[in-house]
Amino acid sequence: ELEEVQGEVEFRNVSFSYEKEGSTIRNVSFTADPGQMVALVGPTGAGKSTIINLLSRFYDPDSGMILIDGYDTSTVKRKSLRSHMGFVLQDSFLFEGPILENIRYGRLDASDEEVIEAAKAANAHSFIEKMPDGYRTVLKQDGSGISQGQKQLLSIARAILANPAILILDEATSSIDTITELKIQEALSRLMEGRTSFVIAHRLNTIRNAEKILVLKDGEITEQGSHDFL
Ligand code: ATP
Ligand code: MG
Repeated sequence: ELEEVQGEVEFRNVSFSYEKEGSTIRNVSFTADPGQMVALVGPTGAGKSTIINLLSRFYDPDSGMILIDGYDTSTVKRKSLRSHMGFVLQDSFLFEGPILENIRYGRLDASDEEVIEAAKAANAHSFIEKMPDGYRTVLKQDGSGISQGQKQLLSIARAILANPAILILDEATSSIDTITELKIQEALSRLMEGRTSFVIAHRLNTIRNAEKILVLKDGEITEQGSHDFL
């Protein structure tokens, strides 16, 4: 069990392959300090999502070690590990049920007031209020009926409520209108504050704001450093 987590993350000579042969990522090493924002950049197939899959232990390394606060994560139960991680992904996971419960999924013991506070911090409150049944509006599983941007705001609200030490963000590439985009950016900065954040970044703005940038190519880190340094 991992109890209190500060959010220091280290990959130490991590190699991994999805198949028996070959290698998807090779000898990847980096550290992220607690609260640091790390951008993962590189062409399609470079291994960005694979690094996230390994950090969250959807797969385990073939060699090397992944540490959180100095603890080897292979010795930590997956459920315990993931309770310290929040995910804001391109296909945010919604289920059929009221908006209130979709947000509460971040922390099942949260009160309605806490859910609404999180929605406000995520800039989601105003659009939710305009829905026919407000927070009681039932969403479809595929999220049809709300926009891509609104889905993102809901998953940000869920992550804010969950309050994890480590955040994983897969930045949307789909076009979102400028106003929603600004709301998302603002909500994300609020969400990332004080958490170690890994962002698969597509936007130059995000990359600029990152404290550390990992440049991946063909499964290897070719450069790492701050924006100014690279
Ligand atoms: P993108 O920008 O397109 O999302 P990425 O940098 O996230 O790319 P990965 O998804 O990490 O790239 O993929 C790295 C390599 O691993 C690619 O060659 C990909 O085809 C392969 N790969 C990814 N997922 C799997 C899987 N589940 N099984 C087998 N191979 C996979
Ligand atoms: Mg990917």
